[in-house]
Amino acid sequence: MIRRKTLECGTLFVVLTGDITAQATDAIVNAANSRLAGGGGVDGAIHAKGGPEIMAECRKFGGCPTGYAVVTGAGRLKAKHVIHAVGPIYSGLTDDARLLALTYKKSLECAVKSGCKSVSFPSISTGAYGYPPADACPIAMKTCHDFVNDNPVIEEIHFVLFSDPDFALYVEQLEELK
Ligand code: ADP
Repeated sequence: MIRRKTLECGTLFVVLTGDITAQATDAIVNAANSRLAGGGGVDGAIHAKGGPEIMAECRKFGGCPTGYAVVTGAGRLKAKHVIHAVGPIYSGLTDDARLLALTYKKSLECAVKSGCKSVSFPSISTGAYGYPPADACPIAMKTCHDFVNDNPVIEEIHFVLFSDPDFALYVEQLEELK
């Protein structure tokens, strides 16, 4: 399933179901952990398909704080870069939303610094990290919308969802965006 919408600022938002590792955007975003140590979910899929050189680069950073992101090459993946973003572990406290928004913003700052024009995001923090998808979705999309309004260099953002309910949430939110 796929839905596309060009926003007033000129950036194309694409909402789709699929596997983030298959995206051919300039960068794909990894839902990483703060040790950049790999794991399950998106992280496991990226390292499994991208090959060991991504982890070799990750080790050089020695970690990344929650809300921030680092960039590596993309090994055998179609993308040119992997942006390893550390979303918050859901706690139910108000800081969750701030940290989740910061994670998307820092990821896009990394994309701009690396010269990327297109970026694919998974639904950060909503798997093992427990963030309710219905709360995370508007934060993800609004933060990206605000960012591209200020940084028109990003031409295309893909939101790659793993389930039909998540896809439906993103489509509903996409309709709200101008
Ligand atoms: P986090 O630890 O940040 O919660 P996860 O990787 O556990 O990250 O999950 C984030 C979201 O990504 C979940 O909705 C999960 O179902 C989804 N997901 C898992 N694997 C993939 C994949 N290969 N491509 C896209 N989304 C995926």
